[in-house]
Amino acid sequence: MSEHIVIVGGGIVGCMTAMALVDRGHRVTIVERNQIASQTSGESSWAGGGIVFPLLPWMYSEPVNQLTSYGAKSYQQICERLERETGLPTGFINSGFLLLPPYDQTAAIQWCEAHNQSYEMVDSVDAQLVANHHSQLSLWIPDVCQARPPFFMRALRQWLEQNNVTLLEQTELSPLDEIKPINTWKTLDGLEIKADKFVVTSGAWSFHLLKSVADKLNIKPMRGQILLYQPAENLKQIVYKDGFYMIPRADGQLLAGSTLEDVGFDTSVTEEVKAELAKKAEAIMPALKGLPIIKHWSGLRPGTPENLPTISAHPRIKNLYLNTGHFRYGLTMAPASARLVTELMADEKPFIDASPFALAID
Ligand SMILES: Cc1cc2nc3c(=O)[nH]c(=O)nc-3n(C[C@H](O)[C@H](O)[C@H](O)COP(=O)(O)OP(=O)(O)OC[C@H]3O[C@@H](n4cnc5c(N)ncnc54)[C@H](O)[C@@H]3O)c2cc1C
Repeated sequence: MSEHIVIVGGGIVGCMTAMALVDRGHRVTIVERNQIASQTSGESSWAGGGIVFPLLPWMYSEPVNQLTSYGAKSYQQICERLERETGLPTGFINSGFLLLPPYDQTAAIQWCEAHNQSYEMVDSVDAQLVANHHSQLSLWIPDVCQARPPFFMRALRQWLEQNNVTLLEQTELSPLDEIKPINTWKTLDGLEIKADKFVVTSGAWSFHLLKSVADKLNIKPMRGQILLYQPAENLKQIVYKDGFYMIPRADGQLLAGSTLEDVGFDTSVTEEVKAELAKKAEAIMPALKGLPIIKHWSGLRPGTPENLPTISAHPRIKNLYLNTGHFRYGLTMAPASARLVTELMADEKPFIDASPFALAID
């Protein structure tokens, strides 16, 4: 049965949820307080690195791995579809992932073997990198891909418009304050938005929106800053070392980041972090010394313990669903979490166990 579904928040999770609902034949509206697919005030989805892989997957639980592995397998097809149907690029490339030492080699290899992930132990594969002086070899995972978030979001927005999704931008919904079935939701301007069902995908702002009706929702903003370079010769693959990564884009640009800062809703960038990130980047790739940083930005991730999102019906508010809290891997997890939330909404047997992502309330 076709329903009218309102999605609250137009980041990658909201837009991918909208796409999944359109594919099921629903009428969809996205309510977004800023502008979808643009760099505005702190939304995470424009700002991210775009790696379709959870950096060090052996550090996460199996439910997190289920969401990220599904995403890693789906992106090529999703990007091809978006590019074919909109004519816009997504920046999807298979660039591989090189993990430089030190790292937990036993855990890494065990994870790759258990998850059928091809890998190789290598000395060095890129002349742009400093020689490996460590006794440990690097780990090369060739299948890791990336999409370019600003491109991907623009193509996704275009696809949603082509498929008659209503985008209500510059429109902010007010926090919910009552536990009762929901059929309308008020904006800050007093407008009443009607729907058969609502899905909250408002990222770092989700707790602010739901705290009176979901006091155990544990989501807070975690700022990430990133730098952009244009080196004469770029890296050939994504490189990760000690919590820091560099991502080469197809057009020759290079991202270096990022930080994990618990500073509330502060979206500013700082000179101190800029210098710190540049130092780390130059230590890995000496050719960056003296090169200008062409852009420096930040985004607020929806931070959650153990990186575990909430993908759930609200247990006491009929017609209200949550798909939020994807922290460091919202791009990677979005296809799986969009599928899961739409299956829950349709009352179907979910493709994976949904219980680890359920919203707990008193
Ligand atoms: C520096 C950095 C690097 C990253 N790198 C990667 C990576 O390489 N790979 C990866 O998988 N992930 C990465 N991420 C994480 C990923 O970007 C996030 O997990 C993802 O963007 C979260 O998407 P979202 O849609 O939940 O949140 P957001 O993009 O923040 O979207 C939430 C939206 O809700 C809107 N909203 C909030 N409240 C309201 C309201 N009351 N009414 C209407 N609208 C509202 C906001 O304006 C916002 O647009 C990175 C993040 C950062 C910051």
